[in-house]
Amino acid sequence: MKSNKAIVKVMRPTQKAAGIAPLIRDMLGKLGEDPEREGLARTPERVEQAMKFLTSGYGMDIRQIVNGALYEVKYDEMVVVKDIEFFSLCEHHMLPFYGKMHVAYLPKTRVIGLSKIPRIVDAFARRLQIQERLTQEVAQTIQEIIEPVGVGVICEARHFCMMMRGVEKQHSGAMTSAMLGDFRDRKDTRDEFLALVNHKGNGF
Ligand SMILES: [Zn+2]
Repeated sequence: MKSNKAIVKVMRPTQKAAGIAPLIRDMLGKLGEDPEREGLARTPERVEQAMKFLTSGYGMDIRQIVNGALYEVKYDEMVVVKDIEFFSLCEHHMLPFYGKMHVAYLPKTRVIGLSKIPRIVDAFARRLQIQERLTQEVAQTIQEIIEPVGVGVICEARHFCMMMRGVEKQHSGAMTSAMLGDFRDRKDTRDEFLALVNHKGNGF
């Protein structure tokens, strides 16, 4: 497994981002709109700002996010952070997909500050993504940082590209998972995770 891949992928926001607004103005025209009308006059700049934020994960450094919040402990029970809300953009249509992620790991020698896990999720969600890769990247990053006995990630999401475009609406909700170490190899570990997540009961 290419273990360091998820962590080292830090890209600085490109200077070219400043050039997005004119492209949006052009697009509005091509869509048959009048980019000069009052309601749209400042839309290109707003879209540019929104897109910069929604893709700000490219500029996030995972090590900086973790910032040393790793603690040596003698704790070997499963740690589960449930119902982490996330918002992402699908790389095929640049339309939102959003949902919840459940992240668990079995510590070996150390744990991470709990608040860091949602921030790691955000760092990968705020990029152009597919749900499968987002799920894998979160799992691999937790694995690389904490080096636990195993990691489990379950992701439930709804995709606007399916919901809004009217295709296969019944499949607009999708579930993905990534299981590493004991979560992959041991059924009892996986079952414990699934029972703790109990995703039928979370109202999604
Ligand atoms: Zn899509």
